[in-house]
Parts: sequence; C-alpha cells; structure tokens
Amino acid sequence: QKNLVVEEKKHCNVGTIGHVDHGKTTLTAAITKVLSKEGTTKYIPYDKIDKAPEEKARGITINAAHVGYSTKNRHYAHTDCPGHADYIRNMISGTSQMDAAILVVAATDGPMPQTREHLLLAKQVGVQYILVFINKVDLVDEEVLDLVEIEMRDMLTDFGYDGNNIPIIKGSALKALNDDPSDIGVPSINHLLDSLDNHVPTIVRDLESPFLMPIDKAFTVPGRGTVVVGTIKRGVMKKNDEAHLMGFGIKVKTTLSDMQIFRSSVLEAIAGDNVGVLLRSIKLRSVESGMLLCAAGSEEMSNHFKAKIYFLARSEGGRKKPVFSKYSQQMFSGTWNIACRIDLEPTIEMLMPGDHAEVYLTLLEGMVMTTGQPFTIRENNVTVATGIVTETLK
Ligand code: GDP
Ligand code: MG
Repeated sequence: QKNLVVEEKKHCNVGTIGHVDHGKTTLTAAITKVLSKEGTTKYIPYDKIDKAPEEKARGITINAAHVGYSTKNRHYAHTDCPGHADYIRNMISGTSQMDAAILVVAATDGPMPQTREHLLLAKQVGVQYILVFINKVDLVDEEVLDLVEIEMRDMLTDFGYDGNNIPIIKGSALKALNDDPSDIGVPSINHLLDSLDNHVPTIVRDLESPFLMPIDKAFTVPGRGTVVVGTIKRGVMKKNDEAHLMGFGIKVKTTLSDMQIFRSSVLEAIAGDNVGVLLRSIKLRSVESGMLLCAAGSEEMSNHFKAKIYFLARSEGGRKKPVFSKYSQQMFSGTWNIACRIDLEPTIEMLMPGDHAEVYLTLLEGMVMTTGQPFTIRENNVTVATGIVTETLK
C-alpha cells in the first residue's frame, strides 16, 4: 500500500512582466547576483539574459530566457523575454505557464500600456499570483513613489487581483546589480524574494478534489479488457471506484477494476502518479486519447469555451489573410485534435495575422477542457494560431 504523503512542490515558475525598459532584465540579473552570494545560485549577467535563444514552441518562435535560482525555501524557474511580442506569444502559448509573475514598473513612468496589457494577459491565462516591483526608485522622490503605488493597487483591483494585499516592493534593480547595500539596493531584492517565498503558497498536490485523469493512450489486454494510461491531475483513485469516461461527445460510466504503477497492482493512486487503469466493460473503440477519466458525476462536457488566441504573423509562417467569425479549422491539444469553429467578439470585425484576442470556441463534439489548457490551430498541418482556454461555457 502506498503512503499518502503530501509532497511539497519545491519548484515554482515565475517571470518578470511589464513595460519595455522598466527594468525586467536588470531585475532578473540582480536576483541571481544577490542569491549567488549565498552559494545557491549561479549569477547570470544582463547580457546573457537579454540574448535569449530562440525557442520553437508549437510552430512559433519565442525569444525567452529561462533562468534558475534558489532561495532557502524553493527553486524558481524564471522567464524573462526580450520584447513585448515575445511576452504575448509566451503567455498565450502556455509554454512557460507562470505560477506567479513579478510585474515591474518604473517609478519614473508609472504604469504604461504594456504594463496593463501584460497584467490583463496574466489574468486571462490564469496566472494566480502577482507581485509588483516598483523599480528605478533612485530617480524619483517619495511623493511620486506613493502615487505609483496607489495607481498600481487600483489597476490590480480593476483586473480582478487583490490589489489591497498584493506585495509591492520598491527598489532599484540597477543599484542591486551594482551591489549597493543601501535600502533600495540589495535589501530590496531580498525583500522581493521573501515576498515571493511567502506570498506564493507552496503548491501541494490536490488530493481533496474528485479525481481527474486525461487519457494519453489506451490498449486492450487480451482476456482482461481495456486499459487507459495517463497522469492523475488531481485527487485519489481507489480500486473499485466508479468513474465516467468522457470526451468526443461520449460519456460512459465504468469502474476502476485494477490499477498499475510501474507494472504492479496498487489499491490507490494519487495526483502526480502515472497509472494504467483497467476499466470494467469498456470497449477499446470507445476510448480515444484526449478523453478524460473522472470521478463519477464530477465533470461536465461542453462544446463551448472561451479562449485567448494569438494568430501567427505572416513572417512566422501564419496566415496571409485576416480571420473572421465562423472561422473553422482543426484544433490540436496534447495528443488529440478536433474540428473547431472560432467566433470573434461582436465588436471585432476581423483579426489580422499577428493579432491576439479573446475568442469563442465551438467544438464539433463535447469535451472537457480546463482553464489554462493550451492548444493550436493548424491549416494543412501548418500552425496558424496558438491559444489557451480561459473558461468553459455552457
Ligand atoms: P526591460 O526592457 O524591462 O528588460 O529593461 P532593462 O532591464 O533592459 O532596463 C532598461 C534600462 O533601464 C537599462 O538602461 C537599465 O540600465 C536601466 N535601469 C534598470 N533598472 C534601473 C534602476 O533601478 N535605476 C536606473 N536609474 N536605471 C535602471
Ligand atoms: Mg529585457
């Protein structure tokens, strides 16, 4: 019998977001420099971060630097992008889904258009935690700083974050990078890191919610029946539990008659486990990858979803022509695909290649898709758009 230990997620995905030139890359370099003194982290200089290698993610090219550092409590994987367009692509494609974002705003400018746009995107793609670093405080006086803080708290509240309680740290990334020991130098970085450690909770595996497992593959074991394989996303599966197998418009009830982890039978399996499940009275032909196995009655299928989408520019291999409502193509997510129609907001007449927007998806058959689930749209096997599900609609 397995031990039900709740493992801490010692790992956290973060990233710097915010308006160009507000100091995101300087801050990223400063964080690694400050932590390098403690011996847990390798210092990555500014030039190394800004020369981010190109990444081919699902057919689109993103420039993104992935920097690792460790505090006493946690390991962080930190994403910093060189340009505004890289942020849009990175966030909408879900390639480095952030648990938390550090919104950098220069005290000299206050919030600017890209500050708002990145924050809106963060909200839409499901970034749960935001911290604010008001940078360049070496260049302004106290009153200006207070005004910027008020503006930021209002803006966070407008976008649906807890504006009153979000940590706002004031400092100078440049001074910290130059080892300045005054309050706005190195200590401001330590303050930021403490806030990250404390404000963003350690994410534990969800063992409380009803179980849910996306199916990666299915096969027949002669004489026994159909086995589905996948990684349990949340909850605990117990032998003989009742379940629903659903997706592609099909919903069938079944029972978990046997479960195997690394080829040995287990009585229960928990979130994070990769497991093979023998399903009672299920025919292989009714199982496809992309279907979902969930606790009986816990999930509903839908044909309708809201999503954030980015259409690749022509130079990225995208479409040559604009997209209008009722645009129909094949949608790909994980190991499966389905015919899908895309409709624009009534106020938007069309989207040009290179544009991003919130859109409505209608799938040919009912599916279960979760918030933050990434997908692409392909025309004749060429990726023309990338997106992330933001809401399930009835
Ligand atoms: P990014 O576009 O947001 O990544 O911004 P950078 O990190 O490249 O910084 C833009 C410019 O602001 C650079 O010239 C930095 O040296 C400068 N800068 C960054 N932080 C500070 C700061 O705290 N004080 C001052 N005076 N300049 C800063
Ligand atoms: Mg930068």
